[in-house]
Amino acid sequence: MIITVANQKGGVAKTTTCLNLAAAMAERGYRVLLVDMDPQANLTVSLGITQAEPSLYEVLVGKAQAADVLVKTAIGDLLPSSIELAGAELELIHEIGRESVLKDRLAPLLSRYDVVLIDTPPSLGLLTLNALNAARGVLVPMQCHFLSAKGVQLLLSTIDKVQQKLNPALGVLGILPTLYDKRLLLTQEVMNEMEARFGDLVFETVIKTSVRYAESPAAGQSILQYQPDSPFADSYRALAQELIQRTPWLQKQAVKA
Ligand code: ADP
Ligand code: MG
Repeated sequence: MIITVANQKGGVAKTTTCLNLAAAMAERGYRVLLVDMDPQANLTVSLGITQAEPSLYEVLVGKAQAADVLVKTAIGDLLPSSIELAGAELELIHEIGRESVLKDRLAPLLSRYDVVLIDTPPSLGLLTLNALNAARGVLVPMQCHFLSAKGVQLLLSTIDKVQQKLNPALGVLGILPTLYDKRLLLTQEVMNEMEARFGDLVFETVIKTSVRYAESPAAGQSILQYQPDSPFADSYRALAQELIQRTPWLQKQAVKA
């Protein structure tokens, strides 16, 4: 039950979505594993973890077992990132099966969790490829800005190639409009373009722009912990609900089976 959150563009709310969707799934009783595949370690830091050693880097290069690197957080377990992860990309490049390293390392852990959420760096390099190859579904956050749709189109064709060549089970779960600001005229134009291009793939849930989403990581918390009764927390609860509703293999009976 692995979900990868991906978009090769930075600043589109991948990490924010990973954090808060994981919190919303945990609130619904899902046992959650978070995997931070971004060397910038924003997800790790957002969960209040500043020193992670060993990290996912040691796991990927075969110096540690994933089970020994897990960190407990308020949401669930985390495989933390560290800046060394940037080097993993180069170290793995000559390995046979280099696209399957993450998938192989996660395999022994999967029975412990109902859902695994992987955060990815802003690139389509080997780390992101590993995350796509390990996953069953991809969730694509897309900021409601001019030209965002072009980047998402490229991502969708990359996902298509991974699906054809490496991971036949892979599918796109949906495109999530983020940084939505209805005061901006352009936002509505972008939304119209998204719906015209991507149709039903676009979630009905949209994530509005709010400084609260930037404040909660500074407190080492998800928005569901930081402001549990706010509409901002409710937006990610709505995303979890919609995602589960449209994804049969994420429904409770399926994940418990
Ligand atoms: P990515 O992981 O795609 O690079 P982030 O999740 O780190 O994106 O978000 C980029 C920046 O925007 C961060 O500072 C984050 O706190 C902020 N942010 C994310 N979502 C929102 C939102 N809905 N409203 C306002 N700021 C947001
Ligand atoms: Mg990020």
